[in-house]
Amino acid sequence: MSKYLSKRAQNLVPYTYGEQPKDKQYVKLNTNENPYPVSPKAIKAMDNYPKGDLRLYSNPACEELISSIADFYNLKPENVYVSNSSDEVLALAHLAFFDKGDKTIFADVTYSFYPVYANLFQNEAIVIPLNDDFSVPLEKFTGEAKGILLPNPNAPTGLYVELDEIEKLIINNRDKIVIIDEAYVDFGGESAAKFVDKYDNLLVVQTFSKSRSLAGLRVGFALGNKGLIEGLNRIKNSFNPYSLDSIALIGATEAMKDKEYFIETRDKIIKTRDWTTDELTKLGFNVIPSKANFVFASPKDNKAKEIFTFLKENGVLVRYWEKGRVSNYLRISIGTDNDMKILIDTIKKFYN
Ligand SMILES: *Cc1c(COP(=O)(O)O)cnc(C)c1O
Repeated sequence: MSKYLSKRAQNLVPYTYGEQPKDKQYVKLNTNENPYPVSPKAIKAMDNYPKGDLRLYSNPACEELISSIADFYNLKPENVYVSNSSDEVLALAHLAFFDKGDKTIFADVTYSFYPVYANLFQNEAIVIPLNDDFSVPLEKFTGEAKGILLPNPNAPTGLYVELDEIEKLIINNRDKIVIIDEAYVDFGGESAAKFVDKYDNLLVVQTFSKSRSLAGLRVGFALGNKGLIEGLNRIKNSFNPYSLDSIALIGATEAMKDKEYFIETRDKIIKTRDWTTDELTKLGFNVIPSKANFVFASPKDNKAKEIFTFLKENGVLVRYWEKGRVSNYLRISIGTDNDMKILIDTIKKFYN
């Protein structure tokens, strides 16, 4: 490590992403990408973008993208913030709402970026263990702190918390920002966006990466009370005012407007998820009920690690963490019907 690094950089424990091996063609079920192509309307709009215009800065106000999102959620543009990925939204939210030493509350089994942010922004993490069945003990998400971070559905379990429970959490914590990370909410859950007008301590964070097949375009957004959105813009405009490029702005706007395609692909994924859950259950797995585009599944014979390795050797990538209470679980992203058939057939081969 270079001696020129700041103490902050020296002490970081960066996020580890799912592997992206290039040695052969894999069925890639390890990063929760959408198996379906980008909306054809979004592709067309991006193709038609006059590339010579990249000479100019992108539009920092992002009005069209913001309106398309506001329309979708029946909110006002002042309730919408956009930037370069929801990971960036989450990072800038830490800068907007928490000071060094402030406490943030999140679960022990959750999006693994939260402890990374706590570390980077020097917040004190209050880690609440999930119940044995991975349900979230929301009554414990309280006490002296500046904010709460909760993915709904949770990652990597896929478990969804009903909206009335989320509303209780917001009401019980009016002294804190409650950040609901809805990266997966489109796959069967309902968005807390409808509470944005009612509670000024709610920030809903979403992404185009999962349900809108645009992981590579890097577009995320937040929905919240006007004051919170202004706070995020204060940070953005002190950090990277042109955080979305011109092509991303156009692609994301058209994808958001293409509701029909969104519903069609989302429904296919939900159907394939249910089929995959049934097949894994027949093979003796315990599958946590998922409202996401992945399932979290545990083989009865404690062989998660062996199955993970066998799948990889046979060209199927899933996610496995060799740690604590999730060490006998596989997180399997939902691909096409054919992808999932290959997955199930390969697991059958493992057992034969
Ligand atoms: C994928 C994911 C994100 C990040 O999405 P990007 O917009 O691609 O950065 C955020 N939160 C959770 C829980 C996720 O799973």
